[in-house]
Amino acid sequence: MPTDIEMTLGMAFLAGLQPHVRCLRGRRMGPAKVEPCGYSAELDFETLIWTRGAAFPCWRLEQRLKCPRCGGTSLAVAWHPGAWKGERMARDLVQCAKEVEKTERARRKGKSGV
Ligand SMILES: [Zn+2]
Repeated sequence: MPTDIEMTLGMAFLAGLQPHVRCLRGRRMGPAKVEPCGYSAELDFETLIWTRGAAFPCWRLEQRLKCPRCGGTSLAVAWHPGAWKGERMARDLVQCAKEVEKTERARRKGKSGV
């Protein structure tokens, strides 16, 4: 699934996606030579949505994270399908559903929303 610039945590949650984070240290540090870190982990989506809210844009997540191994803040978040959508839908998460509706409404109007 491609990462949508408009995608919010609420939308990703209902779409059954799982956030995976990977530390990029060692690849983007300019001319200084550093040891690559390479630490990666699956984030706990339930906690993210409780702390950031359903309207939090997914792309901003990368700016809020810090690698627990090297302390680096150069990270990449990938969204993989993994969770069972039906189970998430059944939780009746109105705040998440609102996010999906909002985007659909904007698309119908022909706005890019960016
Ligand atoms: Zn790291």
